[in-house]
Amino acid sequence: MTLYFSHDECLSHLTPYGHPERSDRLRAIAWALSDEAFADLDQRDAPLGEDAEILRCHPPAYLDRIAGAVPVSGRRQLDADTTLSQGSLKAARRGVGGCVAAVDAVLSGEAVNAFVGCRPPGHHAERKTAMGFCLFGNAAIAAKRALDHHGLDRVAVVDFDVHHGNGTQDLLWDERRAMFASTHQMPLYPGTGAASERGAHGQIVNVPLAPGSGGAEMRAAYDEHVLPALRAFAPELIVISAGFDAAADDPLAELQWETADFTSVTRALCGVAREVCEGRVVSTLEGGYDLSSLGAGVAAHLAVLMEEAR
Ligand SMILES: [Zn+2]
Repeated sequence: MTLYFSHDECLSHLTPYGHPERSDRLRAIAWALSDEAFADLDQRDAPLGEDAEILRCHPPAYLDRIAGAVPVSGRRQLDADTTLSQGSLKAARRGVGGCVAAVDAVLSGEAVNAFVGCRPPGHHAERKTAMGFCLFGNAAIAAKRALDHHGLDRVAVVDFDVHHGNGTQDLLWDERRAMFASTHQMPLYPGTGAASERGAHGQIVNVPLAPGSGGAEMRAAYDEHVLPALRAFAPELIVISAGFDAAADDPLAELQWETADFTSVTRALCGVAREVCEGRVVSTLEGGYDLSSLGAGVAAHLAVLMEEAR
């Protein structure tokens, strides 16, 4: 079985008019999933993530600062890109809670895999810094939940968002039980993600991709770097930071992935999951700002997850 976690409160994180990270992203995904191909998808409300889950990756002072900065009305900018509105904290907690519930369901054997379709995204949030539209490091929190609550020895996070997951890298930098692999356009925001950034235990794999490159270059990056490192690490769970902004039509970047490329990268990761961890995958939504590419990309990604879980 494949589980899908989201929540209507994720629509209440309001960003300024014209901001790419907007509520319509989740409406575009809901529309794509209204296709009868997804009639069997088990869709559940993401629970609110508790403080203790956020504190697996962020210090208490950071959580207090975010909670204290939530405005009663209107918006507050945390930086040039990252906004809080009245509903932002609850929305971000749904993302954390969805990831925790997804990990619990997959590790208990209730589901083979799960996708968390919440916003704001998470992979740019560093230990003490909200940035790049992100408040809490959902993917790293999922990894820590699996390690510290469920007692796994090895978890991998693979990030195919077009931007480098600097936040996940920061949160897992000195965690030898967690491998982090990222493919991303370089140069591009946030500027990190050079191949020389390897983590405190050599457990981080960064594979920068050139602007203008497409599916062939992506497959080479996975075949030559990411998949062999994943197999060697042999994780007991694979967490995916699933961003769909490497799509050709995305307004924030210049990679040229087609919908079929999201199918292909998902198949490749699920294939390794089948080899090393009985197919266990938890995937969480990161970026993707062209609404039609986003809907198609998430549908393609979920179609593979559902096929793998049959
Ligand atoms: Zn992105």
